[in-house]
Amino acid sequence: MVARAMQGPLLALPPPATRHPISLARAVMEDSPHVMMAASGADEFSIEQGLEQAGPDWFHTQERFDQLQQFLSRNRADASDLAGADYKFGTVGAVALDMEGNLAAGTSTGGMTGKLYGRVGDSPVIGAGTYADNRACAVSATGAGEYYIREGVAHEICARIRFLGESPQEAADFVQAETLEMGGSGGVIVVGADGDWAYSFNTPGMYRGVAARDSHVSVGIYGDE
Ligand code: ASP
Repeated sequence: MVARAMQGPLLALPPPATRHPISLARAVMEDSPHVMMAASGADEFSIEQGLEQAGPDWFHTQERFDQLQQFLSRNRADASDLAGADYKFGTVGAVALDMEGNLAAGTSTGGMTGKLYGRVGDSPVIGAGTYADNRACAVSATGAGEYYIREGVAHEICARIRFLGESPQEAADFVQAETLEMGGSGGVIVVGADGDWAYSFNTPGMYRGVAARDSHVSVGIYGDE
């Protein structure tokens, strides 16, 4: 929808789409033999699964619409610009460890303002923006997806914990630093197999919250909180 807007006015409104994308991802995991589905096949699968569909009004927010208009007025179609310092990431992610030792990660995003029609970001790419492995950790990322895909950030963090014995914080900080070196900005939330949790980001802030079994509950926005 975004790129069509870049090319000219929409001739027709897009059809309804899955209202809760993580419910669809879960249905793919539990009710299909696959790991990832995309485009119209995923939409069909969602309808077959009886998941709630919502029209474009549900997905419209004035803030994001204004952001797109601002982007278009500056005629910024250069991909390197998408990860610019003034870009505010809007992905929502969660990681969890249950009482049986199962780790899970979920990430939901509208992608990046000004992206090309058909662009796939890191959020649905298993190992890039989302990953969970009971032997290591669960990770959900937000940020300039192109860098998170190149670096395989979520898998890389789990691999460091698994093979180097690093803590979630050490692994997350190391991989975030490497991602920053490549030019990408963003952040990750991580929970390890023993319930140890961490977050790491190289943006000025990242909305986040923690609820742990030792009754630790906290929220934060900026880096020094
Ligand atoms: N990671 C998302 C993407 O690249 C953007 C975001 O985190 O807001 O699609």
